[in-house]
Amino acid sequence: GAGENDLPPEIWEKVKNHPCYSEEAHHHYARMHVAVAPACNIQCNYCNRKYDCANESRPGVVSEKLTPEQAAKKVLAVASTIPQMTVLGIAGPGDPLANPEKTFKTFELIAKTAPDIKLCVSTNGLALPDHVDRLSQYNIDHVTITINMVDPEVGAKIYPWIYYNKKRYTGVDAAKILSERQLQGLEMLTERGILSKINSVMIPGINDEHLVEVNKAVKSRGAFLHNIMPLISAPEHGTVFGLTGQRGPTAQELKALQDKCEGEMNMMRHCRQCRADAVGLLGEDRSAEFTTDKIMAME
Ligand code: SF4
Ligand code: SF4
Repeated sequence: GAGENDLPPEIWEKVKNHPCYSEEAHHHYARMHVAVAPACNIQCNYCNRKYDCANESRPGVVSEKLTPEQAAKKVLAVASTIPQMTVLGIAGPGDPLANPEKTFKTFELIAKTAPDIKLCVSTNGLALPDHVDRLSQYNIDHVTITINMVDPEVGAKIYPWIYYNKKRYTGVDAAKILSERQLQGLEMLTERGILSKINSVMIPGINDEHLVEVNKAVKSRGAFLHNIMPLISAPEHGTVFGLTGQRGPTAQELKALQDKCEGEMNMMRHCRQCRADAVGLLGEDRSAEFTTDKIMAME
C-alpha cells in the first residue's frame, strides 16, 4: 500500500529513508546541508543577502560558507560521526544553480568519496533548464524548486529583478521569464524521472490565494510534494514589501491554505526550514560541532 502522506508506492520506496519526506524517517536518518553556493541570480523581496537563501532556509541565519573541498571533507567527518547520515543537500546560502561550478564540484567529490549518500539540491529555478541533464548524471533524485507564483503580475510584487542571459530584467518581464523557466525545469525533471518538491512562501495579500493555482500547476507537471512555508517576517531579515513591512501568515491561515491544497496533491507539513549548513536529525542542529576549523583539525 501507499506510505505516509499516501504517496504512490514507487515514490514512497524512493523517499522513505529521506528525513525530509518521511515523518517516520525523521527520527532515524540524518541530513546535512553544505553552504557552497554564495551567489544568486534573482532578488526576492523577502531576502536579505547577508543571510541564507530564505527559500529553503530559516530566514536570518548566516551559514558558514565552504569550498567544495571543505564541504567534501565535512561530509566525510559527519558521516563517520553520525552513521545515520543519509542525505546531503546544497541549499545556499544563495542559489545552488547560480553557482554551478561549486555545486557540481561538490557533488562530484562526494559521489567519489561517499557514493551511498543521497544528494539533493534546491533552486529558484531560473537556471534549472540549463542544468537538468547534468543533474541527472549525478544521480540526484530530489530537486526542490521554490515557486511562489505562476502569474507574472503576482510575480512582479515578489521579485524586483532577475539576472538572465547577461541581462537584468525587472517587473512583469522578469517574473514571466522566471515562471516559464521554473515550469520548464519542472517538466524536464519529470521527463527524466527525477523527483521534484515545490516550496512556496505564503505571503499574505500577495500570493496567498494564488497559491491554490500554483498547487494545480505544479501537480499537473509532476511535482510529488508541495511544501507551503510561512513568510517569516522580521525587518532585519530583509522583508521589504512596501514601507510598512509585510506580515507573515498566522498558523491558522497557513493551515487553511494547506487544507485547501490537500486533495490536490501531497502536502508537506513538517519541513523545519533548516539552515543552509544544518547537520543532524531534523529538530536537532549539530552544525556547531562541524565548523571548518574543527573539520580541518580532524585527520
Ligand atoms: Fe535570496 Fe534565495 Fe531569493 Fe536568491 S533565491 S534572492 S538567495 S531568497
Ligand atoms: Fe528537510 Fe525542510 Fe530541513 Fe530541507 S529545510 S532539510 S526539506 S526539513
